[in-house]
Amino acid sequence: MMPQQPLSSDKYPVAFQVPDAQGIDKPEEACGVFGVYAPGEDIAKLAYFGLYALQHRGQEAAGIATFENQQVHLHKGMGLVSHVFHHEEILHKLPGDMAVGHTRYSTTGSSHIGNAQPVVVETRLGPLALAHNGNLVNVSELREYLLSRNSEFVTTTDSEMIAIAIAAEVNIGKDWLDAAISALSHCRGAYSLVIGTPAGLMGVRDPNGIRPLVIGTLGSNPVRYVLASETCGLDIIGAKYLRDVEPGELVWITAEGMISQRWNQQPERKLCIFEMIYFARPDSLMHDETLFSYRLRLGRQLAQESTPDADIVIAVPDSGVPAAIGFSRASGIPYGEGLIKNRYVGRTFIQPTQGMREVGIRMKLNPLKDVLGGKRVVLVDDSIVRGTTSRKIIKALRETGATEVHMRISSPPVTHPCFYGIDTDSQDQLIACSKSVEEIAAHIGVNSLAYLSWEGMMIATGEDPKTFCSACFTGNYPVPVPEMLKRSKLMLEELKAG
Ligand code: SF4
Repeated sequence: MMPQQPLSSDKYPVAFQVPDAQGIDKPEEACGVFGVYAPGEDIAKLAYFGLYALQHRGQEAAGIATFENQQVHLHKGMGLVSHVFHHEEILHKLPGDMAVGHTRYSTTGSSHIGNAQPVVVETRLGPLALAHNGNLVNVSELREYLLSRNSEFVTTTDSEMIAIAIAAEVNIGKDWLDAAISALSHCRGAYSLVIGTPAGLMGVRDPNGIRPLVIGTLGSNPVRYVLASETCGLDIIGAKYLRDVEPGELVWITAEGMISQRWNQQPERKLCIFEMIYFARPDSLMHDETLFSYRLRLGRQLAQESTPDADIVIAVPDSGVPAAIGFSRASGIPYGEGLIKNRYVGRTFIQPTQGMREVGIRMKLNPLKDVLGGKRVVLVDDSIVRGTTSRKIIKALRETGATEVHMRISSPPVTHPCFYGIDTDSQDQLIACSKSVEEIAAHIGVNSLAYLSWEGMMIATGEDPKTFCSACFTGNYPVPVPEMLKRSKLMLEELKAG
């Protein structure tokens, strides 16, 4: 039987704890947020499936809060959405007209049930439930400000501080909208928020729109509204994509419909380019097309920049697949399936044996001997972070009989950590920070290695490069990062240079 660990929340039901996934060498997305205002509908079920579609954005914890008049009902726990809501009975205990949902991978605050979201706080106007995707960079400053107003904290997250800041403004007499706008003026960094209140549902994006947030409609008479981190969260429940919440915009959804308020007068769009390269699902829409199409173009661009002599193009599944197809189309080298992914390899409680650890990658990926034997292979992936997984994959390809392995990466080298809600390593663990491309090629054991250029990545967007954050490739952080926070992740030389 799988060990189930009791968790420390008396107030709300909890699910069981799931240990970390093994050995994935990718940055982890921070969170997925979801909200639905749909009186008369089974809102808990809609929220459940919305979160189910956003599962890739966080696998550590999940939660749903529903509003029934002045009352909030909450269920959250550690683990996947399907673990936390493992029985329909749980959803039956979440009635109401409106729901807020969250999937979490922690970037600030430690990993325990107390930090799972939505965060619920009480105000003079009733409870507020908040779900946050992103990361504030001025947490210390905000904490000082809130402590000076005698606010109390239960968890260690920046998300709770946003909720408490709004509650503090409500409690001095403001209405929900004025309170939110005042509180947001104290927040710096990345935040896409979905906030439930007894009066209505709110969607907010920071002035740079670093993390995505979209609006959908459900049904036609009356129109009901849905908010989600990505359009895949709308598709799953049959909602239609209406538009993005704009950077610096707040939308307020009530029984009267939806109103929009520009709460920040100087928005400057800086969408995270990594959302487009890797994080968001390939079937989600950004800039009016699926990310699958964008990633195809990344592959095409990559082939134009660097095509070796080879017999077959394969992808590191699943995230490298669109770029590998694009690479194949542009280079004329046939595309094939060379690595088979175990699609059911979730998180496991059972540790592998030492022998299994040594073959490592085959827990998740297994190469096809008859496809790769005697071939010169182009292996396409979307990024390299530490290089540990790439090294294992290449070793497995060679053991399978590939005569040459040429690795092509559909993004530039990752040289800087993220401070805006993506869990990249500290700078000294990023392989491209301390090694040249040739040194990385030697380290991972390939015949050749090439990354897509920064210019090529931007050309493929078809948009103005200024409208993206690409700081993990350049070190140009669009929202200034305080020195103290920089010290937690940046190497000393970088700080001296900066
Ligand atoms: S630093 Fe990188 S991962 Fe973080 S928001 Fe900017 S582009 Fe995205």
